[in-house]
Amino acid sequence: MYAIGVDVGGTSVKAGLVSEDGIVVEQLSRPTPSTSAAKVAETIATAAQALQKRAAELGEDVSAVGIGAAGFIDAGRSTVLFAPNLAWRDEPLRDAVGAIVGLPVVVENDANAMAWGEFRYGAGIGVEDLVCVTIGTGIGGGMVQNGRLTRGAYGIAAEFGHLRVIPDGRRCGCGNRGCWEQYCSARALVREARDLALVTPHAAGRMLELADDEIDNITGEIVTTAGQEGDPGALDCFAQVGGWLGIGLAQVAALLDPARFIIGGGVVAAGELLLGPAREAYEQALTGHGHRPLAEVVPAQLGNAAGLVGAADLTRRG
Ligand SMILES: [Zn+2]
Repeated sequence: MYAIGVDVGGTSVKAGLVSEDGIVVEQLSRPTPSTSAAKVAETIATAAQALQKRAAELGEDVSAVGIGAAGFIDAGRSTVLFAPNLAWRDEPLRDAVGAIVGLPVVVENDANAMAWGEFRYGAGIGVEDLVCVTIGTGIGGGMVQNGRLTRGAYGIAAEFGHLRVIPDGRRCGCGNRGCWEQYCSARALVREARDLALVTPHAAGRMLELADDEIDNITGEIVTTAGQEGDPGALDCFAQVGGWLGIGLAQVAALLDPARFIIGGGVVAAGELLLGPAREAYEQALTGHGHRPLAEVVPAQLGNAAGLVGAADLTRRG
């Protein structure tokens, strides 16, 4: 029996036919319609129908559709309460998709779905308590405690990106200031590199060269390429952002004491350039450092598929 997993992002809707072993048998991707929530539901539903048809060709049934969406999801896993990037407010996504597809539908926060995918089939295998931190434009978070996904009383737990790390710090899209994701994200990495290029151009020489001497052309990929070459300016940017990653992880550990931190998102392509400084800062900032076991800090393993694999699996486990 297959389940369909869907990952709804700001730019694309990815859907996959997922086996009971967490294998993505078939996958497709559609652009996310920007017009309305109803159109997004329709896109999800038609993608699911295409996969249902494919399953039938393979002689398999589909049990349910699991949707991971970037937003706050209610505890009943039916409604998207608030999705800033999709401009959704109180969207009854479960019922809208269910009415078209005719299968049970579960809606989950995308970062929760990713954490669950990694827990079941990826970097989380072997532990019962983990925290997944996904670093993209901002920070997404999900956590598994005692082998169960923890959603909070209202379904909104693990919004780690908005932990305040600096009082009166940089302004955040959430309306507050000094949130963790303002210092630790793909955007923060690029900001760090552009600042360096502006203030001390010679220190950012290699990155500027890769950016055709235009500060605004410096991207996360450029910082990563220069860092992989060993460029000191780029390494310094990773040390800054990785340092903030570690400091935030120490705060999360103070609260949750996980056995493992799984770090996902595009920035993780940089691997140890980011995770090395993060581990160092984490150890230094950790309360009781030297007198307690250290959680591992490891990269995610499932990449882009984690969200849809996790969403599909969650339909089977409630
Ligand atoms: Zn914030």
